Amino acid sequence: VTEAHLARIEAVDEKVHAFLHVDREGALAQARAVDEKKARGEKLGPLAGVPLALKDIFTTEGMPTTVGSKILEGWIPPYDATLTKRLKAADVVILGKTNMDEFAMGSSTENSAYGPTGNPWDLTRIPGGSGGGSSAALAAYEAPLAIGTDTGGSIRQPAAVTGTVGVKPTYGAVSRYGMVAFSSSLDQGGPCARTVLDAALLHEAIAGHDELDSTSIDAPVPAVVEAARNGDVRGMRIGVVKEFAGEGYQAGVMQRFNESVEVLRELGAEIVEISCPSFDKALAAYYLIAPSECSSNLARFDAMRYGLRVGDDGTKSAEDVTALTREAGFGDEVKRRIILGTYALSSGYYDAYYGSAQKVRTLITRDFEKAFEQVEVLISPTTPTTAFPIGERADDPMAMYLADLCTIPTNLAGNAAMSLPCGLAPEDGLPVGLQIIAPAMADDRLYKVGAAVE
Ligand code: GLN
Repeated sequence: VTEAHLARIEAVDEKVHAFLHVDREGALAQARAVDEKKARGEKLGPLAGVPLALKDIFTTEGMPTTVGSKILEGWIPPYDATLTKRLKAADVVILGKTNMDEFAMGSSTENSAYGPTGNPWDLTRIPGGSGGGSSAALAAYEAPLAIGTDTGGSIRQPAAVTGTVGVKPTYGAVSRYGMVAFSSSLDQGGPCARTVLDAALLHEAIAGHDELDSTSIDAPVPAVVEAARNGDVRGMRIGVVKEFAGEGYQAGVMQRFNESVEVLRELGAEIVEISCPSFDKALAAYYLIAPSECSSNLARFDAMRYGLRVGDDGTKSAEDVTALTREAGFGDEVKRRIILGTYALSSGYYDAYYGSAQKVRTLITRDFEKAFEQVEVLISPTTPTTAFPIGERADDPMAMYLADLCTIPTNLAGNAAMSLPCGLAPEDGLPVGLQIIAPAMADDRLYKVGAAVE
């Protein structure tokens, strides 16, 4: 199986560019180790021998980790992220590291310092972002499983536009230890796959308490695999988010979404319309909170500790070397966010910007709480449009940010959500994603509903 996937990567990845690094020898050695374990009659991990594409944001001992940035080019981490350790414990075969927007900032993978990834459905279009490499690897059959991270939609939006499945687990469900930080109160790793059950199997392997992450949830992981094996919505109350429709939503996306609503109704669900009035302010709040946290988190890239160092010729001060390295090592979007975040956190502006954004965050959490008093899950399209052409929004950050309109509220509130394919838009023949949102720690509901409509 590993050899077949490596051959597939060799055949198509020059065009798709899902991978930044393919660990051919390492993958074959892991696969052989599984075979040997089996021959010895030892107990195998739950995903023994299954190849996986790992987003290049998780540290991997002895394997490069770039976060899609020049600032970490050539850096080989001395340790494994908790997630990497768990994958290895499950006997997964790690094929390599996938392309991503630099520091996970973006919705198209065009912000990668190593060039864009193509959408396997149409290589001239974006595969979503920031985790475009992981989802493209699935859609191009280069890997059956992948890992992404979702700060504002970076698992779900790529899943939607590549016709694959992606889950943002409840915040704190998957350890962030060894996952390069972008916005710590929003960042969450999660599973990507081609089917709901595959995603559940991966979810179970990576979730669970970790004492190395202070925000890790110390509670049993919801029974996601059992839920995925027993898809059923009979008697379930499902809410359609009223605000996620209208101007800016592609007709074919709404058509496929509305058909999914009908399918759920036919399967026995009770459909109710739910209003979440604060959701229209989510994007604005996110683009203050995420850059603020990023401006603080990225201060560690000071040219002294990791990766790139520019101008260290013995004549310059440490401050100058730091400045020259950051100038050369960070791309435009990362710089934009650091400047925005530093501004929003500066004295005199803190209350007006960061403080207000935190209040909006509370309102959004309350909208969800009220909604989940009435329904078990909420549904919406995952993204307002299908995959757009590479380059179309590259110079227009506001247009790019709109790709995450429907995914961001979940990150701000910390609950769980899934995107799964619900057909192709008639006007362009490109995949459409259905989003299912559940309360925190009710991740199993995503799988129960997802498996029923899949
Ligand atoms: N597209 C959003 C951003 O640019 C979300 C990114 C993410 O989820 N990592 O911040």
